[in-house]
Amino acid sequence: MQDPDVVVVGAGADGPAAAWKLAHDHGLDVLVLEGGPWHGNEQWPEPHADAGGTVSTDPEDLDGKLLDEQFTHREADANDPTYGYLRVGPADHSRAPWFRNLHQNAFIWQIAAVGGTSVHYFANHPRAYPHAIDEQPHWPIDYEDLVPYYQLNEENTSTQQAPMTGKEEVFIEGADAIYPRIDTKNVTETGWRPQANAVEVPGKETPQGEGPLNSEYDGSFSYDDGFRGDTLVGDHFQGSSTPVDAPVREKARKSSNVGYVPRALDTNDDPDAGNVAIRPNAYVTNVETEGGLGGVPEATGVTFRDSWSGQTGTVAADTVVLAGGCIETPRLWLNSDLPDDGWVGKGLTTHWFDWVVGVYDDETIEDINPDAGHMDPYIGQNSAVRFDKPGVGGLEDIGMSPGLVSYADYLFTEAGYSFDTPTDPGEPWDTRGYLVGEELKRKMSNYKQTKALLVLTDDLPRQENGVSLDNTFSDEHGPVPKVKWEPHPDDDAKRDELARIAANIHQEAGADHIHRAEWPPLLLHMQSSMRMGKVLDSAAEAKNVDRLFVADHSAMANGLGGPNPTNSGQALALRTADKIAERYF
Ligand SMILES: Cc1cc2nc3c(=O)[nH]c(=O)nc-3n(C[C@H](O)[C@H](O)[C@H](O)COP(=O)(O)OP(=O)(O)OC[C@H]3O[C@@H](n4cnc5c(N)ncnc54)[C@H](O)[C@@H]3O)c2cc1C
Repeated sequence: MQDPDVVVVGAGADGPAAAWKLAHDHGLDVLVLEGGPWHGNEQWPEPHADAGGTVSTDPEDLDGKLLDEQFTHREADANDPTYGYLRVGPADHSRAPWFRNLHQNAFIWQIAAVGGTSVHYFANHPRAYPHAIDEQPHWPIDYEDLVPYYQLNEENTSTQQAPMTGKEEVFIEGADAIYPRIDTKNVTETGWRPQANAVEVPGKETPQGEGPLNSEYDGSFSYDDGFRGDTLVGDHFQGSSTPVDAPVREKARKSSNVGYVPRALDTNDDPDAGNVAIRPNAYVTNVETEGGLGGVPEATGVTFRDSWSGQTGTVAADTVVLAGGCIETPRLWLNSDLPDDGWVGKGLTTHWFDWVVGVYDDETIEDINPDAGHMDPYIGQNSAVRFDKPGVGGLEDIGMSPGLVSYADYLFTEAGYSFDTPTDPGEPWDTRGYLVGEELKRKMSNYKQTKALLVLTDDLPRQENGVSLDNTFSDEHGPVPKVKWEPHPDDDAKRDELARIAANIHQEAGADHIHRAEWPPLLLHMQSSMRMGKVLDSAAEAKNVDRLFVADHSAMANGLGGPNPTNSGQALALRTADKIAERYF
């Protein structure tokens, strides 16, 4: 595509949502440049071994069976941050991942690919707490402004109530004894509720049409065998190509490579819409600008580097949209020498997670669920129920595959070794910290009756947390990002309060042993490093650079109060697309 109207940097969770809206509703030609690979596209049959094609514009290039081959479902194949098929790095797996300088006990979990980090995600799609938008002093827009975009995003991503499996019944046993059930998407009160997930619920094709799955189903769970929607295999972390054989757009979990990319390419068949082209393996290294009126520079395009050939190219466009995520968007901004008023890269929020594990005995689970008799936390959607406390944060009930569970439950901590770490008898947990050796094996042997609650804290944006350029290391794209995130004592207090609530819910459900992991910072829900109200105006356009917009989670003004960020990030990207059209086309 020569000189598109808009160039979008990054095809992660949010970039494709903006691209679709710009083309579909406003008839604009959009080029999306993505630094990582593209899975499930016939032009790149071996995306990690061979350069493949250049750019894709044809929805027919998408191939669900190819995606099934590439996403093997095996934990190590997928999740290893160095060698996994989902990692932050060039598509070429003979080369190392991209380096980020992180000087602390912490872990960054992101993906470079078409679909971005949403290729890993659990697709939990709550909305922000209205309190965090309207009552905290960060946002330049109202919650009401976002509601129509939430509705559109929830429709586009098939967001619906998750089905319940064994682990949810145990959560509800505990939570419902203490808290009321919430029955609204716009949460203002404390309580628990089923998750709204961007995942199609299980179903099958019958002679009468599609029907709900029932216990008599004895097929192969494949699309070709009539199966539709989620197979409840809990494979979202590994990329989630189920149901197997389904076309890409009909995979159950609507990561943006499933929910938005096919939809965006479809606009190319619509004579009233604009065209969308997506080029993977194209890492943008510079935002091009010209002087502009009154000394304010104006974005005119971008320069990128092909990660296979090393060749560079420049694309001219009427507007530039940055959607590289909370670390790479500020890094690109700073490497492009764009104006910095002190907030570029700063104000990063992460939901200051923690993880509270409940180990249950067989009798307790049989009482709660006499039919199944066991909890099997790896069955079902990875998270299907949650707890909300606006002003403090929330909790999510989570089940995952065993490698991830042993890591998350017992091996990721800032507390020290469990045998050596005292537990305050006044606290509602029995142990905390690392578990190793025989004790780790004993605990993991009870994996089928163990599950955890994720703590999501309403951490607030602070100028000392965020992304800057490292003045020591550079890679092929310039100085690498240096990332820092430390909790404020207020954030610690909220996290402690939520960890106690989590432990009380486990206790009420009858847990035999409660373990608080005390995670160090896990940068997995990142928000607000290029905040509206600071770096960006109320349309998410840069205050100090014309024709330059941000449409990823970095544009959000805070951490939304604790709810998972992608429904909000995508809703905001859809709104930003409308603002771009209003202002410049
Ligand atoms: C295990 C896991 C589970 C999660 N579960 C949930 C959940 O249930 N619900 C939820 O809301 N969130 C969840 N998240 C978080 C969610 O996935 C992210 O918040 C979201 O994907 C961020 O969207 P983004 O568009 O800001 O960035 P990303 O999705 O990270 O996309 C950025 C993209 O831009 C590309 N890029 C960056 N720089 C450049 C450049 N210079 N040139 C070209 N391309 C570039 C990157 O390669 C990447 O593909 C989860 C995350 C993880 C890791």
